Amino acid sequence: MQNPATHLYYHPLSLQHDTGSGHPERSDRIQALLDHLEKTGLNSQCIWKTPEPATLEAIQTNHSLDYIKMVQQVAAGGGGPLDADTILSSKSYEAALMSSGACIQGVDTVCKGNAPNAFCMNRPPGHHSRRSTAMGFCLFNNIAIGARHALKQHGLERVFILDWDVHHGNGTQESFYEDESVFYCSIHQSPLYPGTGMPYETGDGEGEGFTLNLTVSSGTRGNIYESLLNEKVLPAMRDFQPELIMISAGFDAHRRDPLAGVQLEDEDFGMLTSGVLDAANDICEGRVVSVLEGGYDLEGLAGGVEQHLRGLLGLL
Ligand SMILES: [Zn+2]
Repeated sequence: MQNPATHLYYHPLSLQHDTGSGHPERSDRIQALLDHLEKTGLNSQCIWKTPEPATLEAIQTNHSLDYIKMVQQVAAGGGGPLDADTILSSKSYEAALMSSGACIQGVDTVCKGNAPNAFCMNRPPGHHSRRSTAMGFCLFNNIAIGARHALKQHGLERVFILDWDVHHGNGTQESFYEDESVFYCSIHQSPLYPGTGMPYETGDGEGEGFTLNLTVSSGTRGNIYESLLNEKVLPAMRDFQPELIMISAGFDAHRRDPLAGVQLEDEDFGMLTSGVLDAANDICEGRVVSVLEGGYDLEGLAGGVEQHLRGLLGLL
């Protein structure tokens, strides 16, 4: 018997990764979500889970040991910048291990049928981080590590990642660019940071045809996202027949977000979620693991996540 409720992964360490005053990727994001879920009563509809930290071995499925050690050492030394906008504090290494751990355990719970789906309410985010480089507020690539875990530990052969963060997930794309076992699909604003994710980037070698980049311009509204979902994303998903669907759920395509110009409303995140869930029910017994990425306006983030969770809980 499957438990009918979404498992929600949260750990207090996500509040202790301190990026410094004025940084958009700040602990207030998680606090705003905690407050909003309580206010709306959604907190009692999900089953809360406390993640364990990812093991070094798990992080190494996607990152070089030298890079992991460097992150550990900078944090142990009190923190500092890894690039112009990726800042560590003393707790950031532990928080990053927990952020990836949440993703791994979300995969475990969904693959074992303990929950139909899971949402990892974690930070730091992950989709920009590369094998040996931190980038764009991201330390370890949580969703890539989760997908590798699904392949290695659960013996899956096909995982589909949908990344609707407003920025292209260059790190995730790189991880699976030559890999036919993970389909990476991104809807993102272009031109915008990090500048990758052109429609002609479609994978290479064995991975040719398993990367799909859908670009939108600043000002794009939900009706275009709905068309892209129905005409591009879901057909690709049905063709691929994944055994697990993962979502890089960023909420910075919200109209209130200060870092981009896409104009999605709260409800558009519910529409995207319900569309993916319907397809997941047809294709892979509803197995969806969603992982928080960006979203920098606290009200927009809270409203978007509320609709996303309502979708995951089947309340829409
Ligand atoms: Zn983003």
